[in-house]
Amino acid sequence: MALTAFTRPGRFWRGNLHTHSNLSDGALEPAEVCRRYKAEGYDFIALTDHFIGLYGYPIADTLPFRDDSFTTLLGAELHSGAMQNGELWHILAVGLPTDFAQANAPHFRPVDGQETGPEIAARAVAAGAFVAVAHPQWSGLTLADARSIEAAHAVEIYNHGCATGCDRADGFSIADLLLSEGRKLSLIATDDAHFTEPDHFGGWVMVKAEQNTPEALLAALKDGAFYATQGPELRGVMVGDKAVQVESSAVASVIVQGHGSAAVAVHGESLTRAEVPLGRFANSPWIRVTVIDRAGKRAWSNPIWL
Ligand SMILES: [Zn+2]
Ligand SMILES: [Zn+2]
Repeated sequence: MALTAFTRPGRFWRGNLHTHSNLSDGALEPAEVCRRYKAEGYDFIALTDHFIGLYGYPIADTLPFRDDSFTTLLGAELHSGAMQNGELWHILAVGLPTDFAQANAPHFRPVDGQETGPEIAARAVAAGAFVAVAHPQWSGLTLADARSIEAAHAVEIYNHGCATGCDRADGFSIADLLLSEGRKLSLIATDDAHFTEPDHFGGWVMVKAEQNTPEALLAALKDGAFYATQGPELRGVMVGDKAVQVESSAVASVIVQGHGSAAVAVHGESLTRAEVPLGRFANSPWIRVTVIDRAGKRAWSNPIWL
């Protein structure tokens, strides 16, 4: 059994799914954001400005910045309803139509009568978007909050802006608990770049598709045909009866994680192929793979259901 990212036809395309421009609270014009990502070797980005009344509910028109080697997905960061801590939801929606109906979110505080977070997430999925729970740790998300977003395809397990700005970068605790409840979620790394601090080019997804088109990328994202990374490449994840074979760019550690405390690490020098025994995962309905290079940069596979 292998993850679909490593078996389906096509090649990997590098993309950032969470980015802001000066259409909301980012520092740069959309054209300059796209120029910088293309110049840094990205194949695509999603500009996901804050879908808030204060900014006129922007869905950035990035079509003019597409060319033969770079494309864009339309999207927004959606906000509506309160989390358990009383703060406004942040939900990432990539692949929105330009006519996605406005929310009732005048500013960054919850107001009476607006959609709940789960409701706006479900509306985005119904409109065709790939939806992710954004930066769980930055948000102070509870497990009950996370459970409630039933429509989500994914959880942001690394947010580079949250690493830079508050050292609350990850979403693994929430994601792993949801996986153990049987939720078939995928795992994304993003920048959440605002270009107001060193919050860019730190976490991205590698999406497997035959073409670098919005349609093909969106379908692959919904299929989970991607992995998340800060730099290392994942080249294969194959699950056998007794072990997982992992192929990657040169790394120092290959770790398999599963339900509860289940985890096994293999360490070595310039590993490009590792075999991790599966004995520890007898009670785990899912596993996932992390590789770590000598510089401490990580790549993360999507979950594999055993
Ligand atoms: Zn946010
Ligand atoms: Zn954001």
